[in-house]
Amino acid sequence: MSALQIHQFPARTDNYGVLIHDEASNLTASIDAPDDSAVLSALQEKNWTLTHILTTHHHADHTAGNLRLKEITNCTIIGPGGEADKIPGIDSKVAQGSTIEFGSFRIEVLDTPGHTAGHISYVIPKASVAFVGDTLFAMGCGRLFEGTPKLMWSSLCKLRELPEETKIYCGHEYTLANARFAITIEPQNEQLKQRLECVEAMRNQGQPTLPTTLREELATNPFLRAGEQTVKDRLGMQNEADWKVFAEIRSRKDNA
Ligand SMILES: [Zn+2]
Repeated sequence: MSALQIHQFPARTDNYGVLIHDEASNLTASIDAPDDSAVLSALQEKNWTLTHILTTHHHADHTAGNLRLKEITNCTIIGPGGEADKIPGIDSKVAQGSTIEFGSFRIEVLDTPGHTAGHISYVIPKASVAFVGDTLFAMGCGRLFEGTPKLMWSSLCKLRELPEETKIYCGHEYTLANARFAITIEPQNEQLKQRLECVEAMRNQGQPTLPTTLREELATNPFLRAGEQTVKDRLGMQNEADWKVFAEIRSRKDNA
């Protein structure tokens, strides 16, 4: 069995596009379509033909390329049933528990609402990879445009249950700003301090900081660490529910 090939590339201002390709079946999917030109260039560079778009959520910076890419390639657009009316060109609606056969790989769908009401994530267990759109970022998480803190916390808890070695691909390069905020929540977290330095160096050289791994996020992402006693103590929220601590951290980031 050949490995799943994954190609990440920058698009728009700070988005990432990602192509996944299964050599054996010659299938290629674009995770979201931030910009049709950027996706087409990436396809050309790899000499792959687009067969699918896997949409995570309806925001324009994730769907702007849908219609033109469909027109040019006749690809199938798969997206969240919960917000299907907002996904241009959608052919197939999926939700929690849906599976998509992609050559020899099975793609599993998780509902991860909060950033938008119908946001979904795609997980490929055999390739140890998850595409989480704007739900989880390196040391950050998405803004709560259409969901409550409690809902987003439950989505993050779902992602937290994936195997630690899972590679996480996110929709945006927000890592440096996230790291600088994270250190205000956990100034004593040694691994976080080291990661901030590492991310500063990578960004100075124009390198992408993604994908990340769940293991790294569990150790350094304050939004995933809202249930840790050290974090609760630091915020003076020793006896509060985890989701309330998460809500406090999210609100601090929104006002940072
Ligand atoms: Zn978004």
